[in-house]
Amino acid sequence: MTDQDTARGPVVFDGHNDLLLKLHSGKTDIARVRDGGGPTHIDLPRAVSGGFGGGLFAIYAPDPPERAPDLAKMEGGAYDLGLPGLLDEGEALRATISQAALFRELAEAGVIVPCTTAAQIEAALDAPAMAAVLHLEGADAIDPEFRVLHVLHALGLRSLGPVWSRQTRWAEGVPFAFPADGDTGPGLTEEGRALIRECNRLRIAVDLSHLNMKGMDDVAAVTDAPLIATHSNAHALCAHSRNLTDRQLAMVAESGGVVGLNFAGAFLRDDGKMEADVPLTTMIRQLDHLLEHLGEEGVALGSDFDGAVVPEEIGDIGGLPALRGAMRQAGYGEALIAKICHGNWIGVLRRTWGQ
Ligand SMILES: [Zn+2]
Repeated sequence: MTDQDTARGPVVFDGHNDLLLKLHSGKTDIARVRDGGGPTHIDLPRAVSGGFGGGLFAIYAPDPPERAPDLAKMEGGAYDLGLPGLLDEGEALRATISQAALFRELAEAGVIVPCTTAAQIEAALDAPAMAAVLHLEGADAIDPEFRVLHVLHALGLRSLGPVWSRQTRWAEGVPFAFPADGDTGPGLTEEGRALIRECNRLRIAVDLSHLNMKGMDDVAAVTDAPLIATHSNAHALCAHSRNLTDRQLAMVAESGGVVGLNFAGAFLRDDGKMEADVPLTTMIRQLDHLLEHLGEEGVALGSDFDGAVVPEEIGDIGGLPALRGAMRQAGYGEALIAKICHGNWIGVLRRTWGQ
């Protein structure tokens, strides 16, 4: 292996990014994601140079601007951004269809390879185009008869978080609050339980990130799949409501599930500030804690690229070699680094999907 291979590998397959939202909201376009030079954390040239093999690509329906929580308020001290109310189902559906279409356009442009099996991810991992699993972050567009869910499944949807941090018919998300834990409201509704059972039937992975504590307990009681939190951190080290307590980590471990380390400053820094000034040693401390509570098969990455302020030493997917370097410096062996970088996501998705 050359030094360059060591810097670029093992390739990262990541639990969460918001590139589709950046495309949907017009912050970039398909050509710039393919050719580089755009404002996003993710594009194809940097995927190659940084060793970013792909991940879960989230569809996310935004709140209307006047109701959206102001994430810029996560600036330290205590804060609680509150919980936005129900999103209009029609508006959510329009945003969802738009981003599902953009996912297909990325595939047609050769930027991603859509994947619905673990074998497809493995096959695409080292190719220039990114292995991409279609994920829905918040089931606001889905009707109680699950017709929209069935259409999205037919389009390749294989992962779903029932809620983002807002109210839904299924459950309540957790508001962005610091310092606070996720015990902020009621759990799954009857319709929410039915949604989890339908996802189990369709073999769609259920993502716990953004659910409150009772919601997670309720999913754990209903689901027959491993528990997954695609982009969350350890609450013991950063007391943000979005992070998972040691009790919640034990539940994930018990189920054979996975937690993806979120790179967002607000979920890493011990003052809860959404800032890029985060030393890589802080990420390593999080990984150490997650490894202690989840074991070597339970820890992965869930960057939140293109959805959050990430540590300045990483900056974007081109900076992933710095994170690999920090893991090596911390004494992680190559086999463990490969599990964290991609092996554990592929493993838990295979156990969830059955293929
Ligand atoms: Zn999120």
